[in-house]
Amino acid sequence: MTEADQVASETFKVRVPASYLSLIDWQDVDDPIRRQALPSARELEFLDGELKDPIGDAEHSPVPRVIHRYPDRALLYPTYICSMYCRHCFRKEAVNEQGAGYSLAAIEPALRYFAGATELREVILSGGDPLTLADGQLRELREHLEAIPHLRMIRVHTRVPVTLPTRVTPGLVEALKSKLMICVVTQYNHPREITAEAREACRLLRGAGFMLLNQSVLLAGVNDSVEVMRELCQELVYSLGAKPYYLHHCDLTRGISHFRTSIDRGLEIMRALRGYISGLCLPTYVLDLPGGYGKIPLGPNYVETRDGEQWSFATYDGDIRAYREILRHLPTNGKDHE
Ligand code: SF4
Repeated sequence: MTEADQVASETFKVRVPASYLSLIDWQDVDDPIRRQALPSARELEFLDGELKDPIGDAEHSPVPRVIHRYPDRALLYPTYICSMYCRHCFRKEAVNEQGAGYSLAAIEPALRYFAGATELREVILSGGDPLTLADGQLRELREHLEAIPHLRMIRVHTRVPVTLPTRVTPGLVEALKSKLMICVVTQYNHPREITAEAREACRLLRGAGFMLLNQSVLLAGVNDSVEVMRELCQELVYSLGAKPYYLHHCDLTRGISHFRTSIDRGLEIMRALRGYISGLCLPTYVLDLPGGYGKIPLGPNYVETRDGEQWSFATYDGDIRAYREILRHLPTNGKDHE
């Protein structure tokens, strides 16, 4: 580690589980596992326009530990502690500044807010990493959420099955089992993270009947190649049974510019995947707009031209094909009628 890397490690939290460290190829200074885990001097470079709060969390926080951005779902931070502090984390500075863990007292205002927000259907446990909670704490939190009658789903956003998969035990799974639908959303970013332990963790989660999804972050030097992304997306489905849900364009977070690719590169990768791998393996490529305006699906676009009912589309392998829309009646006022 250089002296500047050392300064970065004193500025931002560092924690890497031994099992994740063991995945690093120490011969390769640009190893993709190492890039995600070990601090770099480049984290201290803040570019013009980068933001401390890149997706406007603060503007959408009605009570402490809650982000309510979309009508029917809200985020809860049960803890700000993570099993690993990812170098590319988009909430890097929030996670760095807030060291608080879980307590019922800390989340009581959030529970009261959720009970009053009758339009909510999903609570998303994020953070921090919710699976760093002890089994008893998870059970307590799950029971309090279950008692809110309008909630239908608890979503758990976690890197634990990636960075510390042995933490996913039968006890943890039992603590999460609920009369509500449980959805676990992991964050695998590279195929080498899909280890035997990760497979076992995901097997336990699926065995409990939980929905299993994955959101990856498009990261320069980690997965910004067609080959790596193809293998990652296929192995998520075929080895872990985890549906690729989102591929996030790297946010405008300060100090992570060395991970940020161009949108053009992301679109190029998506175009190289569609049609060549199963639709089940394809994530939706999204950009979270700064200011908290939500996610924008980025394409690529397959519509070439449109003239009335006559369309032309680009096929997955590069041909242009015409298509004439045939409708019983012409649409009126934006609505189709029988
Ligand atoms: S586990 Fe999630 S919240 Fe924690 S550092 Fe990694 S990306 Fe950020």
